[in-house]
Amino acid sequence: MHRRKFLKNSSIGTAGILSAPALVSCSEAPAANPVTTSPGPVVVCTWDFGNATEKAWGVLSTGGSALDAVEAGVRVEEADPGNQTVGYGGRPDRDGRVTLDACIMDPEGNCGSVMALEGYVHPISVARKVMEETPHVILVGEGAARFAAEQGFETQDLLTDASRAEWEQWKVEAQYKPVINIENHDTIGMLALDVNGNIAGACTTSGLAYKMQGRVGDSPVIGAGLYLDNAVGGATATGMGEEVVRTVGSFLIVELMRQGRTPQEACEEGVRRIMEKNKGRRDFQIGFLAINKAGETGAYCIHPGFSYRRFDGKGHRNIPSESALKS
Ligand code: ASP
Repeated sequence: MHRRKFLKNSSIGTAGILSAPALVSCSEAPAANPVTTSPGPVVVCTWDFGNATEKAWGVLSTGGSALDAVEAGVRVEEADPGNQTVGYGGRPDRDGRVTLDACIMDPEGNCGSVMALEGYVHPISVARKVMEETPHVILVGEGAARFAAEQGFETQDLLTDASRAEWEQWKVEAQYKPVINIENHDTIGMLALDVNGNIAGACTTSGLAYKMQGRVGDSPVIGAGLYLDNAVGGATATGMGEEVVRTVGSFLIVELMRQGRTPQEACEEGVRRIMEKNKGRRDFQIGFLAINKAGETGAYCIHPGFSYRRFDGKGHRNIPSESALKS
């Protein structure tokens, strides 16, 4: 259902920029104070989450940091009950529990992550607190929830009526068996380059719908769902997390850029490695998105339909990704 949504043309933003099917999206525009040698600001995110890049752009275009931009941007999707793969309203696990995963990384290479967090709408902000307020990188489950409470985050029931109804239906049809579902992969991964030339990234998801309790995918795993090196660039992923973890996908893409590949070439190689390990298997989706220090971006996916949203000095646009399996 969401994949169809991505495929539909959309135009968002003030610049009347092109719209097209996309698995990633991005925004760029002139900064309020353009006294900078950075090619930024630029913000990109997976899929066509235009409201999220718009929000991040608001931070970047007034001189804000890449870190503040990506946090503010992905919070938009976390709070949206209409997005059933991120935050509030996310589809639950097979026991009806909404468990959220998120991670964040700053230009200094600091990072924070929460896994299987229940009852908090903004796992990305809890992950940032893990990064800034603890000596750790990852907090999981009950420990993450206790930390969130200590930090003053408010609890909330995240299972909406719509997601509960779909889950009830799934239980009848799927007989409680977790399944691979290429239509359910709308994780938001966001990368930003600010006016000072610094890169930060964030990734947040409710994970695969109807997963086994305790399952964690790539999204909160530094190196898999998100990675950046401020000297080189950043990358993020969406899709079947198990496959991204197996190849440490985002780390791979940043390392390929370090070796001289463009963001596009690096994303293509990341997808190629996963396809090689899955000879003949086509029942899952993977998409990678990357940015380098020059503000160049790239994206590639296995199945068509992935696009990204970009906001930069030229405005806001939806960019279709190339795909390995053009159908
Ligand atoms: N990558 C996410 C996960 O495996 C799912 C997704 O992107 O839809 O949890």
